Amino acid sequence: MEVITDIRQMQQWADTTRARGQRIGLVPTMGYLHAGHLSLVAVARQHSDVTVASIFINPLQFGANEDLGRYPRDIERDRRLLTEAGTAFLFLPDAAAMYPEGFQTTVKVERMTRGLCGASRPTHFSGVTTVVAKLFHIVKPHVAVFGRKDFQQFVTIRRMVSDLSMDIEIIGAPIVREADGLAMSSRNAYLSGAERQAALCLSKALAAADTQVQRGEVDGLRVVAATRRVIADEPLARLDYATLADPDTLEEVSAVHGPTLLALAVYIGKTRLIDNCILDPFAKRCPLPDGRGSG
Ligand code: AMP
Repeated sequence: MEVITDIRQMQQWADTTRARGQRIGLVPTMGYLHAGHLSLVAVARQHSDVTVASIFINPLQFGANEDLGRYPRDIERDRRLLTEAGTAFLFLPDAAAMYPEGFQTTVKVERMTRGLCGASRPTHFSGVTTVVAKLFHIVKPHVAVFGRKDFQQFVTIRRMVSDLSMDIEIIGAPIVREADGLAMSSRNAYLSGAERQAALCLSKALAAADTQVQRGEVDGLRVVAATRRVIADEPLARLDYATLADPDTLEEVSAVHGPTLLALAVYIGKTRLIDNCILDPFAKRCPLPDGRGSG
């Protein structure tokens, strides 16, 4: 795997690759990779001739009191994992090159970034869309793959691409979970042993809601109440939000009459974790905990 740190060099490589008629696939990440990230590389490889992963801990998407300074990193391990996964190129820019002196342009998707995670992270999604728009102009992918683990991010990027007529296919890949149901996340590294155990309440809470829906419950308040009860029963957990929403628009809904997003964010100690699933009254099986049918 070749590592490129320079923006201009990455663009020149993209131009040459496109001129050769090859399809470029991009997987943007913040590093400290796990099997969830590598599953995106596998999807990108299926849809492209050359796969580029990027690693950039984007300061613009962290709030003032968030974990930018201590976000986990291990670039040597990431390089090894990406190489083993068959990634052709790693784009590894530094913050000074991405946001030079005088930088003042942002990309903001309006309505769908106000609720869910946007309510407690008001500047987060404009940070994400701005950096992803930059990455798209630098790597010039034909296709980019995002995880449904960050469902609001995936839908927001799809909206940006559509609204700004970007000629890029956006693919949402399924959530990859640990064997016990916990959605993989770089932030799981923050958890102590007890917190790691407590963090299971997220996937259990989704499963509880799913059980209600499979039993025929359509009332949104009662479905969300089942979710809240599981979180409330875990002493180390504090609910940020649990919300039912339309999976395309992210508008809140009050009933489950068709495929419906149930998204939640929960503090486990100081660590904020997110998870989600699509509740489907017509689906025959529970989407959790193995992740095959989730997200
Ligand atoms: P991050 O490094 O956290 O910014 O994530 C980079 C990409 O990996 C995003 O598109 C995430 O949605 C995706 N991702 C993170 N965790 C998972 C997971 N457990 N399953 C699938 N995709 C994931």
